[in-house]
Amino acid sequence: SIQTLSQRYYSTSNIKSVGVIGGGQMGSGIAQVLAQVAKRNVILVDLNKAVVEKSLININGFLQKSVAKGVITEEDRQSTLKRISFSDDLNSLKNVDFVIEAIVENTEIKCNLFKDLSKICKPEAILASNTSSISITQIASNTNNPQNVIGMHFMNPVPIMKLVEVIPSLQTNDETLKTTMELAAEMNKTTTLSKDMPGFIANRLLMPYINEAVQALHEGLGTREDIDTTMKLGCNMPMGPLTLADFIGLDTCYSIMNILHTQLGDKYKPSPLLKRYVEAGRLGKKVKHGFYTY
Ligand code: NAD
Repeated sequence: SIQTLSQRYYSTSNIKSVGVIGGGQMGSGIAQVLAQVAKRNVILVDLNKAVVEKSLININGFLQKSVAKGVITEEDRQSTLKRISFSDDLNSLKNVDFVIEAIVENTEIKCNLFKDLSKICKPEAILASNTSSISITQIASNTNNPQNVIGMHFMNPVPIMKLVEVIPSLQTNDETLKTTMELAAEMNKTTTLSKDMPGFIANRLLMPYINEAVQALHEGLGTREDIDTTMKLGCNMPMGPLTLADFIGLDTCYSIMNILHTQLGDKYKPSPLLKRYVEAGRLGKKVKHGFYTY
């Protein structure tokens, strides 16, 4: 009946299985928390077979540490792993009820993926993107059911950070929004709502702060240690802004600043020093070299 149809997605109990796309640092964490905390069956898809294998190793490594610390039991570790299957084929997502995309931060690649998902997935499946800065409205416009598309922005590392920013686009309907908030709650995350504007809330505030720290370094206002220690010990930040930029990835910081700059104006111009680091391939901790060496 019409009533059953309209109620279909008012409850997360209808979400039997979730697809996660991208087995990098974010996708692995999202798959783990879905399986471990929300107790959902998860299919983790990455086009790169080596990444698929590595993400299993990463998830298992995290779970083993949690067992050693006494946070979870050995049984929890095994049942979590049993709930996750791995694939390098997008077609394996044809029966999932909810998808969370966490592939590379590139507008064209993401839009093409959503076009494909729209053909492969059930029409009522909710398609969420973990993008840090790309317009959810633009991503949604590549699908046949833009009312089912939403932003679900997790923080890094996913198993540890409490927040998920939820970003409805201009087209997102209330069922999609409600179901997404409920699923995040079942993952034991606190949600905030942001409009679909560049950087959403977290990166709109964080990236200009990091960029200003890079500009301060560029101008010789202080050394990298002076800048980081001032913010850490003087302003009670858990880590300094240059260390944080290294953790996030300087390429990611630069691409988010560029989106803020082009859409919101000159106030958000990336520091030329940030651009130089990216040109030099000093992208931060992931390549063992950024503002610091690892
Ligand atoms: P990553 O480079 O670690 O992982 C991306 C993965 O996507 C890679 O394993 C790659 O093989 C895979 N991939 C690329 N194209 C694909 C495709 N078409 N189909 C399937 N897999 C594909 O990146 P990450 O840091 O995990 O970031 C992923 C997303 O999460 C980005 O949109 C990023 O902006 C967002 N994000 C990142 C952070 C962070 O701190 N790193 C925080 C919040 C959100």
